[in-house]
Amino acid sequence: MTSTQPIEPIQAKEIRASLKADCSQCFGLCCTALNLMASSDFAINKPAGVPCPNLQDDFRCQIHSELRETGFKGCTVFDCLGAGQIIAQSTFGGQSWRTKPENAEKMFMAFPVMEQLFEMIAFVAEALSYKLSPYLKQELTNQLDLLQRLTKLSADELLNLDLISYRFTVSELLVKTSTEIRNQAANKAAKRNGKRELEQRGEDWMGKKLAGQDLRGTNLRGAYMIAADLQKSDLRGVDFIGADLRDANLNGANLSTSLFLTQMQINSANGNRETHLPDHLDLPSHWIA
Ligand code: SF4
Repeated sequence: MTSTQPIEPIQAKEIRASLKADCSQCFGLCCTALNLMASSDFAINKPAGVPCPNLQDDFRCQIHSELRETGFKGCTVFDCLGAGQIIAQSTFGGQSWRTKPENAEKMFMAFPVMEQLFEMIAFVAEALSYKLSPYLKQELTNQLDLLQRLTKLSADELLNLDLISYRFTVSELLVKTSTEIRNQAANKAAKRNGKRELEQRGEDWMGKKLAGQDLRGTNLRGAYMIAADLQKSDLRGVDFIGADLRDANLNGANLSTSLFLTQMQINSANGNRETHLPDHLDLPSHWIA
């Protein structure tokens, strides 16, 4: 693989911060392309490729201000990171599935592919925002460059991508990043508490009472933390990739330097104005209403 100039943390932070959905530039793709099952998060069954009945002709949601109260909580959690507007404006040149119905099926299939590319770009950009060994930094830079080029492919090319192999490569790089960074955080915690790093990958922490604990540097990749009580916990340097934080209590918790935390995870949890989040994430409006 050819090498590009390693990306500096400040540039990587800017790239990560730029990954925001702009629904005004999209064609309601998350409200149309995805298959959504009736649940506590979404009040109705909606097959893939069928517009939600709440989607208006101008691609705005007619119940936008009352989604949580009307059984559509999941819509306030979802975050495409900007994949929707790229599919709409770049891949399909600004022609919507209403204007060009012949493109609809391809557009709806290409959207989840772009979404996955954006998710990988977000994680790799975040990884590059940390102080890492030169070799890892170069590998991540090369991967980011590749992923960014893939977002410019045509719809047909997107549909032929081997996403599994890209995800595998990215996952390996993120594990290496996590190990380097968490060791730093865990060492700080060990100095203060005399404890070793915790390895809790994929474990069940559902409903656990962990309020006020110092969990710095813990590996919580894929952990089930539904409704866990993490009030005022120190979660700096914790790797949250793939962790399920639905209804976890994050009131006053310190997640300011948590790793690979997403807006969707935060949106699905509960918190307040005293919760410290990484710079690239926003306090959900339902936390501060
Ligand atoms: S309820 Fe609104 S935001 Fe949710 S899928 Fe339907 S149109 Fe989209």
